[in-house]
Amino acid sequence: MGEVNAGRDHAEFRREVREWLETNCPPEMRDGAAGESSICWGGTTWVFTCDEQKIWLDRCAARGFTVPTWPKAYGGAGLSRDEDKILKQEMQAIGARSPLDSFGIWMLGPALLKFGTEEQKLHYLPPIARGEIRWCQGYSEPGAGSDLAGVQTHAADQGETWLVNGQKIWTSYADRADWIFALLRTNRDAKKHLGISFVLMDMRSPGITTRPIQLISGASPFCETFFENVEVPKTQVVGTIDRGWDVAKYLLTHEREMISNGGNAMGSGRALGAVLTESETGQSDPVLRGDAMRAEVDSLAMAMTLERYKDQAEGGQGVGDASAMLKYMGTELNKTRLELIMATDGADALTWGDTPASSWLRTKANSIEGGTSEVMLSIISRRILNLPG
Ligand SMILES: Cc1cc2nc3c(=O)[nH]c(=O)nc-3n(C[C@H](O)[C@H](O)[C@H](O)COP(=O)(O)OP(=O)(O)OC[C@H]3O[C@@H](n4cnc5c(N)ncnc54)[C@H](O)[C@@H]3O)c2cc1C
Repeated sequence: MGEVNAGRDHAEFRREVREWLETNCPPEMRDGAAGESSICWGGTTWVFTCDEQKIWLDRCAARGFTVPTWPKAYGGAGLSRDEDKILKQEMQAIGARSPLDSFGIWMLGPALLKFGTEEQKLHYLPPIARGEIRWCQGYSEPGAGSDLAGVQTHAADQGETWLVNGQKIWTSYADRADWIFALLRTNRDAKKHLGISFVLMDMRSPGITTRPIQLISGASPFCETFFENVEVPKTQVVGTIDRGWDVAKYLLTHEREMISNGGNAMGSGRALGAVLTESETGQSDPVLRGDAMRAEVDSLAMAMTLERYKDQAEGGQGVGDASAMLKYMGTELNKTRLELIMATDGADALTWGDTPASSWLRTKANSIEGGTSEVMLSIISRRILNLPG
């Protein structure tokens, strides 16, 4: 990607960032690693893979670089969008790992910044920025996936508190999370979308249990989460009671934008060109090379489109309904990219562990999580193309 349109201030900022990275990014964190095994999720149960992972997290958190565009008061660096781009470019240039990835950063943070009270922002955002609290997402239920507004987990009004009963499903990493942000039905008499509240809960509250769901691979990234007479203070509602759907939808646009980055050629991960160059099949198979070239061009176009929408979005507001289009394209491109890597690596790709095979299988889930491709196409047709629904 071309450099940010750099005025004098930007050049100065780039110099500062370069110097800071040179001094503060440990060599072990400059290996360009991507994917699940390179991620630092943070939280009280997190076990750092090495000392340098913690050093890198702490230094970035102290400088506000885990959440660069958040205001300084909430643990960010208060960077403008252009400055944030420069920081990312400079990190990429030295192969720096992301210091911290979390549902708190990608999803809850933006929702709190928009809908939270000042007290909630000061209480919840800095620990997210420092990687101290790991969050999970309690949206889906056995009867509420694509039809998310069908949530039935119920919060009964007890004056100062809610009494929560019900079940969530597909709660990623609930068994390792410290807190959950969840959609609860707080008014059974109101219309479906108008009786939902967005509530924060401590996973250690009495009455919350999790049960990991084991996949065919043996991994258990998801859980069933159960709530039995869980007492939750009403101060932990974000936004207006019964109007949590507005918070939920806003959060989803950020989740979809984040998932769409998977198809971004500029993102981390093995570039197709490099994969092809390293492999005999990649060098000799003209069809494969043609397909790879098309995929790279499409990914570049996708990356530019993503940047354009982010530029258009007002100060951290997210890209709105366009997130459906970006998520759909990003996840499709990521599938294509991994399929080509599998084809290029041939039999070598068919090994288990942290390999192309597991990344390839993971791309299939991208088009389900955060809303399925069918649902994205429906949003695109109704809300972007204004087609009759
Ligand atoms: C990797 C992964 C991680 C996840 N993590 C979380 C998490 O942390 N927290 C959480 O709350 N949830 C999580 N989920 C759940 C995810 O959000 C749901 O799976 C998703 O919303 C789809 O819902 P569903 O599984 O109930 O499928 P359903 O809604 O039952 O859909 C089944 C099929 O029907 C299609 N369909 C449904 N309705 C329509 C329609 N109106 N028009 C056209 N087609 C339709 C769908 O596209 C799909 O193909 C995760 C899912 C995955 C795969």
